[in-house]
Amino acid sequence: MIDVGRIRRDFPILQRQVHGKPLIYLDSAATSQKPKAVVEALVDYYTQTNANIHRGIHALSEEATALYEGARGKVARFIAAPRPSTVIFTRNTTESINLVSHAWGLRHVQPGDEIILTEMEHHSNIVPWQLLAQAKGAKLRFIRLNAEGQLALEELPQLISGKTKLITLTLMSNVLGTINPVRAVIQAAHARGIPVLVDGAQGVPHLPINVVDLNCDFLAFSAHKMLGPTGVGVLYAKEALLEEMDPFLGGGDMIRDVWLDHSTWNDLPWKYEAGTPNIADVIAFGAAIDYLEKIGMPEIHHHEQELGGYALDRLREIEGLSVHGPSDPSIRGGLVSFEVKGLHPHDLGQLLDAEGIAIRAGHHCCKPLMRKMGVVATARASFYLYNTREEIDALAAAILKAKEVFSVVAHR
Ligand code: PMP
Repeated sequence: MIDVGRIRRDFPILQRQVHGKPLIYLDSAATSQKPKAVVEALVDYYTQTNANIHRGIHALSEEATALYEGARGKVARFIAAPRPSTVIFTRNTTESINLVSHAWGLRHVQPGDEIILTEMEHHSNIVPWQLLAQAKGAKLRFIRLNAEGQLALEELPQLISGKTKLITLTLMSNVLGTINPVRAVIQAAHARGIPVLVDGAQGVPHLPINVVDLNCDFLAFSAHKMLGPTGVGVLYAKEALLEEMDPFLGGGDMIRDVWLDHSTWNDLPWKYEAGTPNIADVIAFGAAIDYLEKIGMPEIHHHEQELGGYALDRLREIEGLSVHGPSDPSIRGGLVSFEVKGLHPHDLGQLLDAEGIAIRAGHHCCKPLMRKMGVVATARASFYLYNTREEIDALAAAILKAKEVFSVVAHR
């Protein structure tokens, strides 16, 4: 059991008020809040260490380099990567996926080839592949969703063919909350020699991950959804793939040598980190990892599943409210998308905001999924280690109040 009361004291923003009410932050799937330790790491870096890395011979540069590379080591340990050099820092999940679609895709995907996605992907894991498919004359195919918001995996054997070059899918849906059986997909893909990219933007912040055990070929995720700062993403990839791929961006730091007519590439991981990186935020991401590890990922996952199950129960009690996604809480993460009959999600979001409750309302960057679900938007409450049952009670009460306000307005 985690001590949520104690955790909450580490997050200064959770003490503030919004519209005169205590903030209830239920939008961590969009971005998480940051503990003091992360903010302090940023301040410490800029007040004590600030210098460019990898090239200086002075003390500050050496210290900054050690902190930056130390953060890489922490990330590697967090996902059980075999070596820190298989962890590449990018700006976000989106950039990590684009790195693969360029550096791996342009080399390996040829006209007529196919890439398999799923119908629940975020735009970040659709658009880069559309761009690649257009550039190369390739085709995208999709694993369908069933009525429960789960992947119709029984159809995967028919989707995979000799033309399939890559399977790419999310570990957890940011709309439905579904935790996908990525291990089964990876096993099926590897049996046919096909690599798999896992979009871990929603999974890595909430579930214990071991990339060796999972055996994924690529894993992309963002620091800002796991207590870290914005502006830092991660691409983990198997070493052989990183060695074989071409660089994504060219410039300083990613080269070994440069002549006027050609260049050679730096060792891993720097081959994929062109230019001055986001030094301060990477270092503060290291502090976020320390924080998550101190609490424990299995404990965090357990807490969120418990909250998710409680939210399902409380919300389902509300007349006219329907929850999207799997009914089985054991295959759901800590987020709930829902619809309240007669209330547009944006109106609901605004009424909840007036109560100090922050939820997300919209298409969640999953427009193809919205079309599949037959809705234009959903309301979504998402939970993290700092949320409580009392906050879910407050959400349920505020939804009931919003329903009343709207029925009064509707009957005027
Ligand atoms: N994939 C999923 C499943 C997501 O939820 C998100 C963020 N909402 C992304 C990718 C993109 O993350 P970022 O905006 O940090 O690149």
